[in-house]
Amino acid sequence: MSEIRKHYFLDEYCIVAAGRGKRPSDFSSSPEVQNATNCVFCAGNEDKTPPALAVYKDGQVLQDTKDKLIKDWQIRCIPNMYPALNPEGVDTPYSSGYGFHEVIIETPQHDRRLTDFTDEEMALLMQAYKDRVMHNWKQPQIKFVSLFKNWGKQAGASLEHTHSQLIALPLIPMSIKKESDVIHATGKCAYCEIVHMESSNERSIYENEHFIAFAPYCSKVPFEIWLLPKMHVSHLGELSEHMLHSLGAAIRYILSRLETVLGSPAYNFMFFQLVDDHQYHLNLRLQPVTSKMAGFEKNTDIFINTMPPEKAAEYLNNEFSRQTVH
Ligand SMILES: [Zn+2]
Ligand SMILES: [Zn+2]
Repeated sequence: MSEIRKHYFLDEYCIVAAGRGKRPSDFSSSPEVQNATNCVFCAGNEDKTPPALAVYKDGQVLQDTKDKLIKDWQIRCIPNMYPALNPEGVDTPYSSGYGFHEVIIETPQHDRRLTDFTDEEMALLMQAYKDRVMHNWKQPQIKFVSLFKNWGKQAGASLEHTHSQLIALPLIPMSIKKESDVIHATGKCAYCEIVHMESSNERSIYENEHFIAFAPYCSKVPFEIWLLPKMHVSHLGELSEHMLHSLGAAIRYILSRLETVLGSPAYNFMFFQLVDDHQYHLNLRLQPVTSKMAGFEKNTDIFINTMPPEKAAEYLNNEFSRQTVH
């Protein structure tokens, strides 16, 4: 049985094709081989990348240091060596390709991944996310900051050393604008309603003091997961230290569950937020990369998802899902 499902509050659709009866093993992938040779993100190779924009070390943040040789860092933020946009030409933002493109190197160690991080390491990474997003949003003419992580080659990561990226744009992307318009037109926060709706049902995956995670009703891809703050906040800048800690714990939890169920999937996660629009509600979307966007999706923007979110949540919630769920 297939089902056309509508997005919570947008005129967007997906097709949940449950009849294909797929299981997690149909989407799983084996871990990629880690190869630390000549990795420019590794500790000791700081001189092979541009000077850091921010270095997190011993409970301190060192900003815009020209010293390339700062050692023993925990997180290092650098300009992207192949930037999609660059800071020159603020007077003509579109034609000059104005913007900022940063890389956040999450650990000096090559073979670690977010699921290995301690609570404190996750919390520090969330603090770095918040700091860099807010720093970039304050730059002249910047209207949106895209913060995202690509993990695995299939997800677009060109280097395997775990890192996130940030691209600051002189415009608000159409997709965010559309969401914001609907939220303003209805005068109520659709995401607050989603928090209420998805907190405790067959799509729920995780909850802590400040966040919930669930498989969205209109999941575009198998095992898509959304993470929402329970409180209405519009961007990372509004999160307290305590909330950042909760966010880090939530992200690590859902990534660990994905690893248990799917092996070591490539994935993207993206933060959706607006700094100047308090009616918008911060959210994070995580999409494992299990298939390529093909002709139908490109033609219609309607995704065919062969793993119903209710079933995905069941697998993700089952402690022994790989062994026992059939
Ligand atoms: Zn490395
Ligand atoms: Zn809200």
